[in-house]
Amino acid sequence: MHKGTLYVFTGPSGTGKGTLLSRVMEGDDKVFYSISATTRAPRPGETDGVQYYFLSKADFEQKIAQDAFLEHAKYVDNYYGTLEAPVNEKLDAGCDVVLEIEVQGAMQVHEKRPDAVLVFIAPPSFEELAQRLRGRGTESEEKVQKRLETARREMQYADRFDYVVVNDEVDRAVDEIRGILALRRT
Ligand code: 5GP
Repeated sequence: MHKGTLYVFTGPSGTGKGTLLSRVMEGDDKVFYSISATTRAPRPGETDGVQYYFLSKADFEQKIAQDAFLEHAKYVDNYYGTLEAPVNEKLDAGCDVVLEIEVQGAMQVHEKRPDAVLVFIAPPSFEELAQRLRGRGTESEEKVQKRLETARREMQYADRFDYVVVNDEVDRAVDEIRGILALRRT
């Protein structure tokens, strides 16, 4: 049977990856969005098993020891990781799989699965990113600063990705991403 394609979407926090991806995936039942595990605390409105599997540090580290992750990374003091089994199941069933992960994880997937398609979502400018992060109001100023520092480092990896999509205008960026997904489906 034809195997699905693994897509990795990466971009600094606040770039709007989540918004773009939920738009892209609306009404597309051939794509499975991988739910990551994390040790960070749920934000208001987040539910275990929906946005993330929220794990304790001990549980996360046990899963690392069991080699249960396709990739995992520490990002601003917390662990984040993709559980490998559900990803393989979907790919084997011919379904495409989308990971929305940070850059260290993306590089690990690139090593392990050279056929994965890597897409970097970039903000139109650094100033706009800072504005969006503050505007979101979900993080303290200290956490915002850490995310901005991380973003500066992450931006340096953009040229290692197969595609760079600038989120300058949501409709345009969504169309561009749909075009990328369509390339492998013909
Ligand atoms: P947030 O705390 O804003 O939900 O996520 C912080 C960062 O972690 C984002 O860049 C997000 O894409 C990334 N992330 C989410 N899940 C995973 C994962 O499973 N693995 C890795 N490496 N990064 C992840």
